[in-house]
Amino acid sequence: MGKLVIISGPSGSGKTTICKLLEKDPQVKKSISVTTRLPRHNEKNGKAYHFVSTKEFEEMIRNGELAEYAEYCGSYYGTPMNALREALAKDIIYLLEIEVQGSLLIMEKFPEVISIFLLPPDKKTLGQRLMERNTNKKQDVELRLKVADKEFEYTDRYKYSVVNDDLEVTVNTIREILGLT
Ligand code: ADP
Ligand code: 5GP
Repeated sequence: MGKLVIISGPSGSGKTTICKLLEKDPQVKKSISVTTRLPRHNEKNGKAYHFVSTKEFEEMIRNGELAEYAEYCGSYYGTPMNALREALAKDIIYLLEIEVQGSLLIMEKFPEVISIFLLPPDKKTLGQRLMERNTNKKQDVELRLKVADKEFEYTDRYKYSVVNDDLEVTVNTIREILGLT
């Protein structure tokens, strides 16, 4: 039986970076979400996300193909159900890198889920990291920072909260939580 893990946190808190480092472990696999947002320049379809149209996404909702889904900054994001079921049948650690509304749905459906909320050292650093990532327009960064204020209110709903200051320390802390060290 696999272990299900949620990694959440505001945009720019370091979720993608940390999941990539955790995935170096052969026991760890990350769910590939479906989204209607446009790919960033470095994102490949089927790797970062499955990029689909709104019509296709809404059809997946109707067909019950998603374990959860949410709307975030004007786009849909969802977790494919089949891949999740297959992963849980194996002896692996399956990461869901998802936002707070979807996390709450997964926590209801899978009470044994290990939920981790990533926090930036402070809001100024979060803004700087979002700008430095250089994949979002200034307007989009501002929107994501506004949404972050709401997301912080959900920290207590997660089993663990981890401040992502030094990257190596953060990854080691999470590896310990997942029983990987
Ligand atoms: P998210 O997936 O949560 O939106 P990313 O993983 O894309 O966040 O990280 C946002 C930016 O911050 C990236 O440019 C990443 O390289 C950088 N970053 C992540 N963690 C750290 C850290 N501990 N220290 C400094 N920069 C970091
Ligand atoms: P981004 O556009 O930065 O890739 O992601 C925006 C937000 O959507 C992030 O908080 C990310 O964790 C979240 N997200 C990505 N995939 C999913 C998903 O399948 N479901 C939900 N609920 N959120 C997701």
